[in-house]
Amino acid sequence: MPELPEVETVMRGLEPAMLKKKVKSLVFNRPNLRYDLPAGLPAQLAGKRIESLRRRGKYILCFCEGGQGFVLHLGMSGVMKVLKAGELYEAQKHDHVIISMYDGGMVVFNDARRFGFLISTHLDDWHQRAPFNKMGPEPLGNDFYTSVLFEGLRKRKGPIKVALLDQSVVAGLGNIYVCEALYRSGISPIRAACDVSAEECDLLVRAIKDVLSEAIEAGGSSLKDYRNTEGKMGYFQANFGVYDRAGQACPGCDCSIDDTGGVLRIVQAGRSSFYCPRQQR
Ligand SMILES: [Zn+2]
Repeated sequence: MPELPEVETVMRGLEPAMLKKKVKSLVFNRPNLRYDLPAGLPAQLAGKRIESLRRRGKYILCFCEGGQGFVLHLGMSGVMKVLKAGELYEAQKHDHVIISMYDGGMVVFNDARRFGFLISTHLDDWHQRAPFNKMGPEPLGNDFYTSVLFEGLRKRKGPIKVALLDQSVVAGLGNIYVCEALYRSGISPIRAACDVSAEECDLLVRAIKDVLSEAIEAGGSSLKDYRNTEGKMGYFQANFGVYDRAGQACPGCDCSIDDTGGVLRIVQAGRSSFYCPRQQR
């Protein structure tokens, strides 16, 4: 599932195609994805200029002049394709949403598994509505620092791994970047969140910011479905320390795999966690 770096990469790819441009039409090729598609939205957006595009957590928000807009989530397999004016395009199976711009450009939302969604929202109150009303700070923003994370973890008795996946603690993290940030900060995913010290929170905040920034720089991570708006893969998966590397040596370890078994995979809250029991305590 796309996490912050992948969603950020997609949003940046949409900007040249959509931002400050006028919507000619918005077409839904089916009534619903994960949720019903907003039937009234095409009429509301037609002829309107897109004033802003932003990412919050794993969501993309798009607002037109007048404030009407939509929230987009890529789900598991959602891909946004950007087509320039005059570019030939043959419609594909699972092209569910098509946004045509007056300059001839097009944006196509393709989602084979339909876990993605598009719902309407408004600039005036989007932040007061779910899921944004309970969302924690943006990890790359100035509102995310050591004491904020420490406070967020202090009352949680469950594992640190699970706490970091909770979007109310910090927004945008998923399985990959939580595993990688814990690895970089030397903290075991099994530790109780409330037992992580302020000093360790300091390391963790830095690791989260670093791993996300590096992943954005690399265009995200492509494991199965993720592609950017040009259909290209991200390449941060080549830099994973532990994620999806069970049984292999982690980059910073001099331990013999025969002795330690290498990177361990365990299951926490139904999701795989990967870690090095030697470097993460
Ligand atoms: Zn190791």
